[in-house]
Amino acid sequence: MKIDIKKIEEIVGENNYSDNIADLYVYSSDASVHQAMPAVIVKPKTIEEVQKIVCYANKKKIPVTPRGAGSGTSGHTVPIDGGIVLDLKQMNRILEIRPEDMLVRVEPGVVDDDLNRALNQYGLFYPPAPASSRIATIGGEIAANASGVRSVKYGATRDYVLGMKVVLADGSLVNLGSNTRVHSAGYQLERLIVGSEGTLGIVVEATMRITPLPKFRCLAVANFNSLKDAGNTISDIITSGSQPSMLELMDKVGIIAVNKAMNLGLPEVGAIILFEADGNVKEAVDYEMKKMKGICEKHGGSGIEMSYDAAERKRLFSGRKKLFAALSRYKEGIICTDLADDMGVPNSKIAQTAEKIHEIAERNNVIMAVYGHCGSGVIHTKIMFDTTKKSQWKDAERVIEELYDYVHSVGGVTSAEHGIGLSKAPAWKKARSDILPMMKAIKKALDPNNILNPHKLMDAPDDWVKATNLRYNVRS
Ligand SMILES: Cc1cc2nc3c(=O)[nH]c(=O)nc-3n(C[C@H](O)[C@H](O)[C@H](O)COP(=O)(O)OP(=O)(O)OC[C@H]3O[C@@H](n4cnc5c(N)ncnc54)[C@H](O)[C@@H]3O)c2cc1C
Repeated sequence: MKIDIKKIEEIVGENNYSDNIADLYVYSSDASVHQAMPAVIVKPKTIEEVQKIVCYANKKKIPVTPRGAGSGTSGHTVPIDGGIVLDLKQMNRILEIRPEDMLVRVEPGVVDDDLNRALNQYGLFYPPAPASSRIATIGGEIAANASGVRSVKYGATRDYVLGMKVVLADGSLVNLGSNTRVHSAGYQLERLIVGSEGTLGIVVEATMRITPLPKFRCLAVANFNSLKDAGNTISDIITSGSQPSMLELMDKVGIIAVNKAMNLGLPEVGAIILFEADGNVKEAVDYEMKKMKGICEKHGGSGIEMSYDAAERKRLFSGRKKLFAALSRYKEGIICTDLADDMGVPNSKIAQTAEKIHEIAERNNVIMAVYGHCGSGVIHTKIMFDTTKKSQWKDAERVIEELYDYVHSVGGVTSAEHGIGLSKAPAWKKARSDILPMMKAIKKALDPNNILNPHKLMDAPDDWVKATNLRYNVRS
């Protein structure tokens, strides 16, 4: 497939594309283990430019991989067949904030934190914020159905999408959904785009529901001797009818890593839980916090620190916020990889899954951290090992297979947050073979030439190691 660079330049202008090798290399990977080179990076500024690029690509059957910040953890934006990477970050205007309708209309490249900074001035916020909110774009969050630390109370991206403009594979533009809080007119097509990982269309504008900022937020941390006690506490808090606005877990691996990386001096106990309540009535928040504190204590939680103060809450949360980045500091010679990183399990299975992860890791000579938004059943892990050794990649492959088999056996899901991309596809396809024909039929109907982010999700290769280059120097 030959790309006519002159044509691309005609559409977006000379400063808005690149086929320079250094730029291509930067766009050849994301936060995953994968790497594959695109042929050209294109940075449109308008809907019309997106339409023209996609229309041209469709005629020539050139793959187009939409990309926001490239913070996806499973190879979502790695252009497995080369072609065009469509960087949407320049389409980053907040088009309208409508407090009277409690909605916001944005271009896809708006960064989550920037949106929230703008909304906060109106006493409003957009809750789904993933931990990557400093860089993640609204387009990427929609395509991955991202959620974050407050999903336990506020839900995921899908709960906030009202409508969107989408450029389809033939370059045509469709308006999906509505500006109203609910609509009941046929297929909820805007929802179909949520979680589609760039395979069905390019989101070029989105209308999202927003919500008032609560007047009070109180955050607490509690220390536990064992991961089991911490996991059971989380399950009990949820079944008690408490309404946490955050309920996070960090295991000992995570605690040691953030202590090393950030010198935080956290007690190196079995696990830490962070719990938060929010609301407009302080007595109601006090009530929730007291109730959750009691449940922590019942399970042996100790050293409980609690604060309403914004700076103090930031301090208490700082270890959890930087945990992902800190993990590679856990031990000399090991690297933290984004593999099998965001399972979801039923509330009653949190403690046993957390313990199982450590057991599988130990048996297979790797280190795994267990953490995440466990209040909503999201268990984050990272597989940490010597990425220079082939034998350790084999260990990691075994871990992934065992782990997903276990998670599926307890009624859990392959991905609760980050999506499927490439590296999670084999396990997900194995577990959900029932829905693959339906997904393939939808893809074929909307993208008959298979140009939009090909070989992802249901079409991803069965061997994630061989699917692309690994972005590590594997020596022996
Ligand atoms: C440190 C770190 C922490 C993270 N924490 C969380 C977390 O707490 N919760 C969570 O859910 N995720 C988390 N993630 C994963 C990731 O940040 C999210 O999935 C995020 O939504 C991706 O946004 P992005 O702009 O980087 O999208 P990208 O990675 O660029 O793209 C993600 C997918 O969306 C598609 N896409 C991008 N823009 C468009 C568009 N306009 N139209 C159509 N398709 C598009 C891409 O093709 C790709 O399939 C984390 C990642 C990192 C590195």
